[in-house]
Amino acid sequence: MKVRAAIAYGQHGQVSVETVELAPPGPRDVLIQMKAAGICHSDMSFINGERSGVEYPIVLGHEGAGVVLECGREVTGVKPGDHVIPVGVPECGACPACLSLKTNLCDEYFQAWPERPFRFDGRSAKGFCELGTFAEAIVVRETRVAKIRPDAPLDVVCCLGCAGATGLGAALYTARVEPGSSVVVFGLGGIGLNVVEGARLAGARQIIGVDTNPAKESLVRRAGAQHFVNPHGVDDLLGHLRELTGGGADYSFECVGQPRTLRDAVECTRPGWGTTVMIGVLPGAQEIALRPRALLEGRRLLGSYLGNTKTRTQLPGLVDLFMEGRISLDSLISHRIGLERINDGFAWLASGAATRTVIGF
Ligand SMILES: [Zn+2]
Ligand SMILES: [Zn+2]
Repeated sequence: MKVRAAIAYGQHGQVSVETVELAPPGPRDVLIQMKAAGICHSDMSFINGERSGVEYPIVLGHEGAGVVLECGREVTGVKPGDHVIPVGVPECGACPACLSLKTNLCDEYFQAWPERPFRFDGRSAKGFCELGTFAEAIVVRETRVAKIRPDAPLDVVCCLGCAGATGLGAALYTARVEPGSSVVVFGLGGIGLNVVEGARLAGARQIIGVDTNPAKESLVRRAGAQHFVNPHGVDDLLGHLRELTGGGADYSFECVGQPRTLRDAVECTRPGWGTTVMIGVLPGAQEIALRPRALLEGRRLLGSYLGNTKTRTQLPGLVDLFMEGRISLDSLISHRIGLERINDGFAWLASGAATRTVIGF
């Protein structure tokens, strides 16, 4: 079938919306009609010089929601008409990782994926994260499809596929924030605000949002933070955070992707048990340097990919949290556009004007 799709051809700053041919689903694949897709910083890294080693052209987009149109003959988990969130991290349900509670990174996630479902100009292209949600329809393996309840608004819960799962999961499943904890969140974009929501849901006593953009203060307070700190407004950021938390935070979350911010996130936690979750992606080949004693003093640094959220079994539960009114994804969505205006969405993300821009199909 023919679909409109947003294609990146290289690190040149724009994507091109074109009509492409979408291959029919194979025996274990699902054809999904996309209804909504969120624009994430990871998509932008394909066109702003931050990502290397990419095979272009590629159809961008890894966050979205839609309706199943057609299933391959071996597909058992979904059927036409089901509402679904396609996900970048598969869950096969059978590998050692899927059987463990320690990780969400299914063995299939690390396997090379040869398929290129999009065809145009005599060549074929992959979708980002084997998805490519910036297209009117996509073909993905069943292991990358989370079935959700039919009454959830797809143009809102689409944001759970990346930002929501990453942020909420980092608090709930990676850090496992306990009731009564103090929490500092660095970087209050779509992911950081979801971390705040997750920490509030977990019963955190004190949540502090840190961002250089003063416009984030009202957003983070609405998400559940009691304090907002602008690093430009204080002389000694670490001293200020230690004082606010009474000696250091129980948990901190780095959602910026800068080595300096990661060091601050580790150093602002309490010796003995302070735990930092690294979420932000450092651009290019940058490395991190930490003061060794910061860790020797008993602090912990945890990596987190998609918030340790097991995509097919736990993501539907996050949709339930939204439907029960316990998390407020709507307030995270700042802009809504059609696919043809996708480059405006990237511009708003780059300038900091957008929290989450959702494309409607
Ligand atoms: Zn993302
Ligand atoms: Zn697996």
